[in-house]
Amino acid sequence: MTKRELKLIEEGTPCVINYFDRNLLTVSQAKERGQDICPNYSQCEKNQNMCALQIGLEAAKYTMQKGNLKKQLYDFYDQALNQGWFNEELWDSINRRDFKKIKGKGNILRAVEGFARIVLLKDPFESFFPGCERCEGIKLEKIVHNSVWVRGMRGAGTGEVKTQSIPYCPDCDPEPKNGIVYDDEINLF
Ligand SMILES: [Zn+2]
Repeated sequence: MTKRELKLIEEGTPCVINYFDRNLLTVSQAKERGQDICPNYSQCEKNQNMCALQIGLEAAKYTMQKGNLKKQLYDFYDQALNQGWFNEELWDSINRRDFKKIKGKGNILRAVEGFARIVLLKDPFESFFPGCERCEGIKLEKIVHNSVWVRGMRGAGTGEVKTQSIPYCPDCDPEPKNGIVYDDEINLF
């Protein structure tokens, strides 16, 4: 399988390197070609906007170093929530010619994944995330731990904990939280 040189991913930036060119694999090739400045550079820099491509490159970098793109995307999601990045519109492009601003957690996460896949020479149209039926975004999974209670006996726990993975849309649904389930519901899951 063709791979990109780690250094090209670690030290490069989509502002001057065209990662959409799948034949560009090494730092020396990039040097030969010279700086290939992003067509959106002046727009982006003037307003100090954030760019999904830059974040996607970061996700690709950590994937190269530590493996597991899916985990890097979940880490990005947590970080973006903490830093308030989802309140902003981000630039995105699927070809480095046409740029548009995107918003929404699901759209941003999917754009970051798409570019990380471009950088890693994976199929950008594949995704770890299923689509949401209600918006154009995606669904995440959250692991929750539910205490098992006995039906009809208020507050009586069996001491058992049921762990479940709950799919939810970060834009349409509240984040699933730990809670309780009743013992007679268990076989429903
Ligand atoms: Zn949704």
